[in-house]
Amino acid sequence: MGNKKVILVGAGLGSLASALRLSYAGYQVEILEKQSTAGGRLNILQKDGFTFDVGPSFFSMSYEFVELFKSIGEPIPFELNELNPLYTVNIAGSDRVFQIYKDLDKLANEFKGIESDFETKVRAYLKGAKEIFHDTEYKVVKKNFDSIVGFIASMATVPLKHLPKLFRTFWAELERHFDSEEVKIIFSLVAFFLGATPFNTPSVYNLLNYTELEHDGYWNVKGGMYKIVEGILPLLEKKGVKIHYNTEIKSVNYNKSKMDSVVDQSGKAWTADLFVINADAAWFRGHFLNRKKYTEEKLDALEWTLAPFTIYLGVKGTIPGIHHHNYFLGDNFRDYADTIFRSSVAPKKPYYYVNVASKSNPNCAPENCENLFILCPVPDMRVKPNWDDAETLANEIIEDLSNRVGYDIQNNILTKTVYTPVDWKNMFNLYKGSGLGLAHGLNQIGAFRPSNKDEELNNVYYVGASTTPGTGLPIVVIGSKLIQERILKDFPIS
Ligand SMILES: Cc1cc2nc3c(=O)[nH]c(=O)nc-3n(C[C@H](O)[C@H](O)[C@H](O)COP(=O)(O)OP(=O)(O)OC[C@H]3O[C@@H](n4cnc5c(N)ncnc54)[C@H](O)[C@@H]3O)c2cc1C
Repeated sequence: MGNKKVILVGAGLGSLASALRLSYAGYQVEILEKQSTAGGRLNILQKDGFTFDVGPSFFSMSYEFVELFKSIGEPIPFELNELNPLYTVNIAGSDRVFQIYKDLDKLANEFKGIESDFETKVRAYLKGAKEIFHDTEYKVVKKNFDSIVGFIASMATVPLKHLPKLFRTFWAELERHFDSEEVKIIFSLVAFFLGATPFNTPSVYNLLNYTELEHDGYWNVKGGMYKIVEGILPLLEKKGVKIHYNTEIKSVNYNKSKMDSVVDQSGKAWTADLFVINADAAWFRGHFLNRKKYTEEKLDALEWTLAPFTIYLGVKGTIPGIHHHNYFLGDNFRDYADTIFRSSVAPKKPYYYVNVASKSNPNCAPENCENLFILCPVPDMRVKPNWDDAETLANEIIEDLSNRVGYDIQNNILTKTVYTPVDWKNMFNLYKGSGLGLAHGLNQIGAFRPSNKDEELNNVYYVGASTTPGTGLPIVVIGSKLIQERILKDFPIS
């Protein structure tokens, strides 16, 4: 075992992936986690005979998980399951339910009579999205940056033909390719449910539709998403990694260039040679290191992703007309998207996503029952700090869903849990309840995002949603690779 000791603060996926890479490389690793379970947002809720995934329900770029386990010489400890169809979309006022397939022939069939010549158009659209994905993957996403100059120099090597995409919105790019509102709205969902409106998101993010529709599709995990965490934990144990649960870091001791220890709620100081912070990278710098760039006022002025309003329902009976992954939208997309993230009141006629894991994983619900995870993107606590009205919004969503699928959900509920942005903030120290951390506007990526290496303390690194490269399960796994690269260079194993 190597002699360098690393402490990771937080046991979210970014931290667990880092702990795997570092412990297998020979570092001595310990993890301190505020909660009683590992996984952070990738967590599990077990209640009244039902099992729910708390946050993520699917992901793209599954090959990043494959790479993680390959890099440590272990077989992947869970079973990946490709989604087909990717998801279904219900738009209010339309009796058509759109099934979104990766197979473009099948997808064209879904838009028959709605978008003429869809197949030719979608192929042209995806060609552009594919080019930008591959032209930026290693120059922007999978790379460490030490300065803004270095970042800009790397960006400058991206082919010039992509330049107009920086000045167009996501929606404007869709308008260049498609005529029907339905196609434009559906292809915007990948941005919308990441907490960004397509009307102010740069068009480069259309590359997400390439990752979804052509490149690698969407995946989940057989037996539920928490199998990822359950698969990682024994590997960490094998390498002697200790996880200390119910241990929240409340303060830190540091001098000009080095962190000495992190101190938990009982006053215990945890020392190490180096520290990896998995709590929000922007919030941590302001809250614990008193950095002027990250005061509350400055953090509030940044762009943050959606705050989640989530409902976990165990329901008696089999609900018809609903699939594994479903979006339920209203008929006012533009108005809704324009106001939802800025409104100080709960949304009226909310747009939401429903995941019914029991459709493909019967073990997560008792016989003849369904388990529903509902996610409604809502304003974060900067604009709506008070969520005492949670019950009203939850009931509105349940009633709308009941009407749209033709099943009385309300009267068949066996268990119900609701998490508001306040709960999300309190559970995992998410800044003002933002579910996915800092947004990914062009001024908040690469060297413009809080760095994965502290700017003053030379033994402190960051991994997770709000540092580089960004949020989402495969992306924080990439983040773990980037900090491993740095640590191996800065603190080589002797
Ligand atoms: C509702 C929801 C749905 C999502 N759906 C998807 C999806 O379908 N697909 C996808 O790819 N991504 C999804 N995401 C995003 C994804 O969950 C995150 O990007 C990812 O899990 C972030 O991982 P992380 O490494 O940043 O760690 P986090 O999950 O943020 O974990 C950080 C950990 O640090 C702990 N911690 C914080 N402060 C302290 C402290 N002071 N002391 C000790 N411990 C501390 C927290 O308790 C937490 O366990 C979703 C997120 C949410 C909220």
